[in-house]
Amino acid sequence: MEHRARKRFGQNFLSDPNIIRKIIDAIRPLRDDVMVEIGPGLGAMTEPLLERLAHLHVVEIDRDLIARLHQRWPAERLTVHEGDALKFDFATLGAPLRVVGNLPYNISTPLLFHLAGFAAQVRDMTFMLQKEVVMRMVAEAGSDDYGRLSVMLQYRFRMGRLFDVPPGAFRPAPKVMSSIVRLIPLPAEQLHADDEEVLAEVVAAAFGQRRKTLRNTLNGLLDAAGFDALGIDSGLRAERLTVDDYVAIANHVAAQRK
Ligand code: SAM
Repeated sequence: MEHRARKRFGQNFLSDPNIIRKIIDAIRPLRDDVMVEIGPGLGAMTEPLLERLAHLHVVEIDRDLIARLHQRWPAERLTVHEGDALKFDFATLGAPLRVVGNLPYNISTPLLFHLAGFAAQVRDMTFMLQKEVVMRMVAEAGSDDYGRLSVMLQYRFRMGRLFDVPPGAFRPAPKVMSSIVRLIPLPAEQLHADDEEVLAEVVAAAFGQRRKTLRNTLNGLLDAAGFDALGIDSGLRAERLTVDDYVAIANHVAAQRK
């Protein structure tokens, strides 16, 4: 039976075989990889992944699609986790985990933040996302695209935009351009934040009102003496600071709270 794409689940199904092959080649699945696909949908990527893998996990929210997946593949090959990827505990799947997916664009930012929490168990992640989101993920300090998503993901991952995918590769076609992005967790010894919750708090405060200066946005977190001690100009705006600057501020704030 035809499946009617559901907008609320961000359903745009890949239909261009050349693009699908290019994505699978970029992922390079190896037989015994522990891999999970988020949002398998009608199986456009699931099928070629299972041609190379012994087994695959998928997380899917749409009941109709879940029923089709069960019909199409036996449980020894495909484990279907039914539910919301935003609430899914990826730590239960084992390590080192490879995460892939043509993600539902309506939840991509919260999903990326959720996945970042499992970085310690992850080997790599390869996603299709709205190009604009990928540009924000990989943006450098000083650029317009640089924001909370850039800092929080660049703190944990090395990231690269691999290639772009036009709307015509999907049914129905989305309104936006898409890109494939790869995230590779940085080794634990390169993560220098003493308290990652404080880092998240500082970054959220700084970019909460990105037109204001740090003196204003970080008021209550960092005083004039703090800015001086760190050698950071309080008259700057959030987008001027590097990831390392944010880590230094967060460590200073965390130390003061002790
Ligand atoms: N992988 C398929 C493809 O490339 O054709 C489908 C991609 S479609 C953009 C996104 C998929 O994610 C859909 O199958 C949708 O039902 C599923 N999805 C949407 N929200 C989800 C959620 N919160 N948790 C898990 N899956 C979700």
